[in-house]
Amino acid sequence: MRIIHLNGNYIPENEGKISVFDRGFLFADAVYEVVSVLDGKLVDFNGHVQRLARSLKEIGISGTPGTENWLTICRELVARNNVEEGMIYWQVTRGAPADRDFVFPSRNTPPTVLAFTQSRELVDNPLARRGLHVVTVPDLRWGRADIKTTQLLYASLMKNEAIARGADDAWMERDGWITEGSAQNAHIITREGVLVTHPLNRDILHGITRAAVLPLVAQRIEERPFSVGEAEQAAEAFVSSASGFVMPVVNINGCAIGDGKPGSATIQLRQAYIDCARRTAI
Ligand code: PLP
Repeated sequence: MRIIHLNGNYIPENEGKISVFDRGFLFADAVYEVVSVLDGKLVDFNGHVQRLARSLKEIGISGTPGTENWLTICRELVARNNVEEGMIYWQVTRGAPADRDFVFPSRNTPPTVLAFTQSRELVDNPLARRGLHVVTVPDLRWGRADIKTTQLLYASLMKNEAIARGADDAWMERDGWITEGSAQNAHIITREGVLVTHPLNRDILHGITRAAVLPLVAQRIEERPFSVGEAEQAAEAFVSSASGFVMPVVNINGCAIGDGKPGSATIQLRQAYIDCARRTAI
């Protein structure tokens, strides 16, 4: 049985207790991170801990573990659960006041801090060999997609709709411009050999994997929105995320991308990222 971390304690997963009044449960008043583990080490740890701090600041939650604490929690969980490859999920909620109330509780209410591991093969992923099929859906999320909150209902609905439509995942669009995937940043390589990726603003999550991947790109990079039509006509397309690394996209809305197989630049980039992640993991 897995050992999880809850509010400073390491306990078996079935012994974790959270109040029914926890604001994470009642209001999705919570932020989270997913950090991948390779060779028992943490990938892009500093980026994730910094983004968590930013998310917490944006919604005004304080009194949570600092960087060193998170490092200890992660290492402890990896060791106790013998994780060689997989992910660690972290979540911080605004805590559990004595009743349900839209008004934030007093500062005396401690945040709820949860972390657990998920062992999974990340490098040897059959989807990376086959490539993803995506369909576009309207981006109807709230206007602060840059904050990594646990309000994931819309993304989850859209992923399931994509699967019901015979695809693997959804790319979201606002007014015809692709913002990002359901849980990944979206990128294309044009037929002119330019990598195009949405700029960092409030419409997308500022992906930690995106930030680590872009310096490894051989092509010229343009950080600008791209349209659904441009994506359908791209030479290559891919998504980036902590658990998927770099994942080729081979079909968008039924249009084959390139020859319908993972593109060579994307395959190279996936390998370059995995090599870099192994080298820099802590
Ligand atoms: N965009 C969204 C909406 C996400 O949920 C995620 C990851 O969960 C990403 C992008 C990729 O971010 P990262 O590379 O930090 O995992």
